[in-house]
Amino acid sequence: MSDPPFPVTDRDPPFPVPDLADPDFAPFWQGCRQERLLVRRCGRGHLSWPPRPACPRCQDLSQDWQQVDGAGWLYSWTVVHRTPLPAFQPLTPYVVGVVELTAHPGLRFLGRCQCDPRQLRIGTPLRVTFEHVTAEFSLPLWQYDNEPQDNEPRDNEPRGA
Ligand SMILES: [Zn+2]
Repeated sequence: MSDPPFPVTDRDPPFPVPDLADPDFAPFWQGCRQERLLVRRCGRGHLSWPPRPACPRCQDLSQDWQQVDGAGWLYSWTVVHRTPLPAFQPLTPYVVGVVELTAHPGLRFLGRCQCDPRQLRIGTPLRVTFEHVTAEFSLPLWQYDNEPQDNEPRDNEPRGA
């Protein structure tokens, strides 16, 4: 088997690794190690994701990072049934979703969602957790959010059949 065209872990099966030293993303990956979801914040306080050289709202170049609440909802998704990556083959079928943060409309993350692929619907409440892939590298992983919100009674019945 030929080597994959990207960095991988030395665990078996090899897991693809992003460039953790990329200056645009390094603080984000450090936050994941600490189980903190971080987004960029410009000098005028606008939050944005993914990181860009300038704020997409005001073009401010001074940027910092801010921890945000990891509660969100399922905006869109796809279900992966087949993958050439050995690390992901045991997970199929799995869900890759776009999750919008509840407290920050418009901030959307792309990531794996630990959800039943047969019971997906737009608006499903999700919350970020972190999968510690190696000692140096962690990934956001979105799971069902079962915390009650706004003091509303929560229907604890499973959705769907
Ligand atoms: Zn701005």
